[in-house]
Amino acid sequence: MTQTNAARVRFAPSPTGLTHLGSGRTALYNYLLAHQTGGQFILRIEDTDQKRFNPDAEQDLTSSLQWLGLPWGEGPGVGGPHAPYYQSQRMEIYRQHAEELVERGKAFYCFCTPAELDAVRKAQQEAKQPPHYSGKCRDLPLAEAKQRVAAGETHVVRFKAPKDGSITVHDELRGDITVENRTIDDRVLLKSDGHALYHLAAMVDDHLMDITHVLRGEEWLPSLPLHVHIYEAFGWPQPKWIHLSVFLKPSGKGKMSKRETEAMKLTGQSIFIQDLAAMGYLPEGVLNWIALMGWSYDDKTEFFTLPDLIEKFDISKLNPSPAAIDFKKLDHFNGLHIRALPAEELARRLLPFFEKAGYQADPAVVTRITPLIQERIVTLDDAPEIAGFFFRPSVDVPAEKLLIKDKSAAESAAALAKALAVLEALPELTAAAAEAPMRAAADELGIKAGALFTQLRNATTGQEISPPLFESMELIGRETVLARLRAGLDALSKLS
Ligand code: GLU
Repeated sequence: MTQTNAARVRFAPSPTGLTHLGSGRTALYNYLLAHQTGGQFILRIEDTDQKRFNPDAEQDLTSSLQWLGLPWGEGPGVGGPHAPYYQSQRMEIYRQHAEELVERGKAFYCFCTPAELDAVRKAQQEAKQPPHYSGKCRDLPLAEAKQRVAAGETHVVRFKAPKDGSITVHDELRGDITVENRTIDDRVLLKSDGHALYHLAAMVDDHLMDITHVLRGEEWLPSLPLHVHIYEAFGWPQPKWIHLSVFLKPSGKGKMSKRETEAMKLTGQSIFIQDLAAMGYLPEGVLNWIALMGWSYDDKTEFFTLPDLIEKFDISKLNPSPAAIDFKKLDHFNGLHIRALPAEELARRLLPFFEKAGYQADPAVVTRITPLIQERIVTLDDAPEIAGFFFRPSVDVPAEKLLIKDKSAAESAAALAKALAVLEALPELTAAAAEAPMRAAADELGIKAGALFTQLRNATTGQEISPPLFESMELIGRETVLARLRAGLDALSKLS
């Protein structure tokens, strides 16, 4: 099903904690639908619950969206025709709408005290009934209720959910869902302090903001019948409803708890967007990964850029089944996107990771190193480990590492001395100039070239695995390479 009409969609988080993969994916799908239809992607901050609101979480949210590259066209910071986009600044709008429902006989003032509600709840628990409002104030004459409100009596506004018959709601992924109306509770819309709750605020906003598709987490599916009743009570046309699958922990067994999320960080994995950024994942890799956690294009294609996704995303191919978080796939996608980046762009992104690792990395050198490591790194954070030797003044390699396989210390030292002499004799140390004479030297020594190169690699880079040896030497520079080889020779001589 390709969307042809301009979709107005919103990402409507409650900033109470750090932004995680699930929110990132909800934002992404909304963004894709908006952009593929020439519509609008709106950010709305659902901060009606001021007790749980956390300004750091809002900051984390906006930086996560910016990092992912999913800018919003209406919302905080950019404004728009339906401002304000903070629910806490729209309370008067909700109050008026709650009153409108009361006038229409679709909502009622409820004066039950917390103690009364508690007693009812306990009785219901004992009778093994699901908790629900007793109905006490539901049919109070409106004139009488208004008098009590005017007299200052504490009250809330509750929705007067229909009690007879059933309702059939439609989710684009899951089809029709029918529930008995008697199972729908008379939920509070407006609290006694005048603050609106989600069920009212989100419906009013979605209507006033002309939202055409509501893409939100599956945890809201049980509330859908209530929400459709609220739309109908106002006489508003419904948006399309799309409830996205949940994410399961990597084992596939259940959703991740807060404690497990924290524990996961200790293993070097995280479900939080800003952590993934700090760990050296690319936004391109993360987007590709989360795009496919709940959506697929065909069975073959796995590499998607954001423009590809805008073109190919299709809500009829969303998968309602829960998806287990698979970090191996994240590594896989990140590797693909690292290799797809132009080397100069990759170099620009690597620079802060070298700096974070404590290297004073010259951007010009990083640019030259990048093509040598582009095929070898999975995250940006791998780069300092693989290529930090370019920036270290020396590499302290233990002499044992310089022993050539099946050769004595003296033979190994003789080999290194010969290699050193060959390199010293070269007018300049370039990869092109060095390789052939070094192979010839290995032949003369009766050592396999690979074995000699391993020794040289250890002496030059301090590691057994490195970017290509002679290219690395060229970049490190003649004097530094010769100094490292001399230091290695010194260490080896002491062994024999
Ligand atoms: N504020 C809700 C949440 O964070 C948003 C649900 C919705 O998208 O309507 O879960």
